[in-house]
Amino acid sequence: MPRIKKELQEVKKKKRKKMTSVQVIKGMKDILPPEQLFWDYVIENSRKLCKDFGFGRIETPIVEQTELFQRGVGDNTDIVEKEMFTFETQGKDRISLRPEGTAGLVRAYIENGMSKWSQPVKLYYEGPMFRYEKPQAGRYRQFHQFGFEIFGDEGSAIDAQVIYLAWKIFQKLGIKDINIQINSIGCAECRSSYKKLLQDYYEMKINKLCIDCKRRLDSNPLRLLDCKEEKCMQVATSAPQIIDHLCVICHDHFRSVLEFLDEVEITYVLNSRLVRGLDYYSKTVFEVWENNSEGGQSSLGGGGRYDGLVEMLGGEETPAVGFSFGIERVVESLLKKEIQLNYNVKKEVFLIQLGDKARKKILRLFDKLVDSNITVGESLGRGSIKSQLRMANKFNSKLALIIGQKEALDNTVIIRDMESGMQEVIVMDSVIEEVKKRLKG
Ligand code: AMP
Repeated sequence: MPRIKKELQEVKKKKRKKMTSVQVIKGMKDILPPEQLFWDYVIENSRKLCKDFGFGRIETPIVEQTELFQRGVGDNTDIVEKEMFTFETQGKDRISLRPEGTAGLVRAYIENGMSKWSQPVKLYYEGPMFRYEKPQAGRYRQFHQFGFEIFGDEGSAIDAQVIYLAWKIFQKLGIKDINIQINSIGCAECRSSYKKLLQDYYEMKINKLCIDCKRRLDSNPLRLLDCKEEKCMQVATSAPQIIDHLCVICHDHFRSVLEFLDEVEITYVLNSRLVRGLDYYSKTVFEVWENNSEGGQSSLGGGGRYDGLVEMLGGEETPAVGFSFGIERVVESLLKKEIQLNYNVKKEVFLIQLGDKARKKILRLFDKLVDSNITVGESLGRGSIKSQLRMANKFNSKLALIIGQKEALDNTVIIRDMESGMQEVIVMDSVIEEVKKRLKG
């Protein structure tokens, strides 16, 4: 091949390489600094409330044995059937990226002997979850949840406390136009007779169902109630309601949860079609729905009681209840509302430098100020004093410390009061003391 042709091919190859830069995986996204402000706001407020309510933070691994989710979440759920990221390790173990947080927390509760701790055990968590879903607005393949769980108390007051905390978090964040959609799906006993009734009802309407519902009718009939296909929603409107078929214990438990919610004036809507997608729930299930500007409603989070799960995963019989919300959805809601965050981005002191020598001095001074717990800003990349002073104003700094060529040689600093514009030269060694004095003043 002539040399010139070969060279041209090389150039083309390089160009192709450049054009096809590697992109983020479908359904996943980067969270950039401007958005992080909202993430911090959501997480810090949620953490604070959880701590106030006596919850301790737990972190579990992002990957677990696949079996944990098969047994915990349920083989016949959408999540386990088709949404998990599952791998085989080099040691031939089958592991999955966690699609939700509760199963991992239950494993940790059992494995760390928490049933011996003083009960109830109250835990909160946050972190990434992974579901291989069709990406769309508000639905990602990697998303983040904040959640909390209470183990070891079967009382209805605990269900109400979890709902109350969920409610309070959203109120605190400024998401006020919400309601609690609530239902009871009973215990294993009342649910099993209800499932039969439901199957009988749906058998009669089988021709009106979507393929997924026809398939699920035997294995997981409850899921037919929350199918989003229009024709299945029509059929569901006249389906028997579980609330009419609860046993006395489940019925009383549910009534009592609602009474607690009335007491704390939480707006709830009885939703007989709310079953939640996961197998582990029993008795109370609920979701937090937000009324959106388009007149519809979207789910920010959900939870419920799961009294059988700890035992099912090999632990002692332990009642439990929990809730989680999607951080992306909450951040998107805040962004839509254009909520102004009162984040204090104030830097008490701003460092201004002119020239290379000054820049070196600034680096050391920055360190000393940070060590003295003084919030400090700088703009090492900028050259002109004017633009650096503009930055100091933007950060609402009370003082600017200016080092030019002369000050760098003399080992001095100009201290400027940003409000009055008054300036004074001081020796470097006394800067920290002087700054502290002026900040206090
Ligand atoms: P779930 O337990 O599946 O109802 O999930 C609880 C909350 O997590 C939902 O209300 C959403 O806010 C959030 N969530 C669930 N799946 C996704 C997803 N694929 N992308 C973003 N957020 C999600």
